[in-house]
Amino acid sequence: MKRLAFLAVSLLVLAVPSLRAVPAEWTNPFPPFRIGGNLYYVGSQDLAAYLIVTPQGNILLNSNYVSSPAQIRQSIEKLGFKLRDTKILLVSHGHYDHAGGSAEIKRLTGARYEVMDGDVSVVETGGRTDFQFAHDKSMWFPPAHVDRELHDGDTVSLGGTTLTAHKTAGHTKGTTTWTMDVKQSGKTLHVLILGSPNVLDSYKLVDNPTYPHIADDFRAEFATLKALPCDIFLSSHGSAFDLQSFYDRLQKHDPNPYPSNRDYQAYVAERESAFEANFKRQQASRK
Ligand SMILES: [Zn+2]
Repeated sequence: MKRLAFLAVSLLVLAVPSLRAVPAEWTNPFPPFRIGGNLYYVGSQDLAAYLIVTPQGNILLNSNYVSSPAQIRQSIEKLGFKLRDTKILLVSHGHYDHAGGSAEIKRLTGARYEVMDGDVSVVETGGRTDFQFAHDKSMWFPPAHVDRELHDGDTVSLGGTTLTAHKTAGHTKGTTTWTMDVKQSGKTLHVLILGSPNVLDSYKLVDNPTYPHIADDFRAEFATLKALPCDIFLSSHGSAFDLQSFYDRLQKHDPNPYPSNRDYQAYVAERESAFEANFKRQQASRK
């Protein structure tokens, strides 16, 4: 019996390689819904995933945590679509909470995995070449082969819909902000899906041997973000644009349901000052 119990535990550990305690918001389900046009929300309470539906198959943006694909599949099916119609898989960036389920999504769908240059080796090694977490097993995730390496400004097109990949590096070397247009109530609206402007607590912004240009990249990112058009503000984490309030406004048929350009600019400005304050602190304490 003991041996069996040990085997069961070993199998569990093998199945879920990340040992990190996962915030409940990552696995709490969230009702899937139509954002606008052919764009749908299929993520959890905080880990955002988006489905773009076209006549030639669908694009999935973010595979989320290693255990998320089952939930993403349920969300897609609840909306009346099929996971197996996913032709292209994209990610916001190569961390275990956005790219952790990619190997499984690829296995289930055969989708082409298209990833920004700076994050290709990170997702192909399951986090083992990440500039910060290469030696932190709790941040590793199942590796997945990349079928197309993207560069700043590249587009991804399927069935009449085009997404543009904006390299907004710093959080990772290949963090990507995605933009696309949706047609909603006779208008064309610019959708922006933010990659991540966040400086994690452990990040060295000054004299970083594994990412020497990290501060320059963050500054270039903020310049890019401030210049991008945005009528609908979305992000890799629901908390960034207050997913719950957005959903509630849609349910109540609010005439202006979308997280707006003003929300977006305020969020980016706040993240930029947090970065600059952190940079100043690190520079002051440099030996
Ligand atoms: Zn991240």
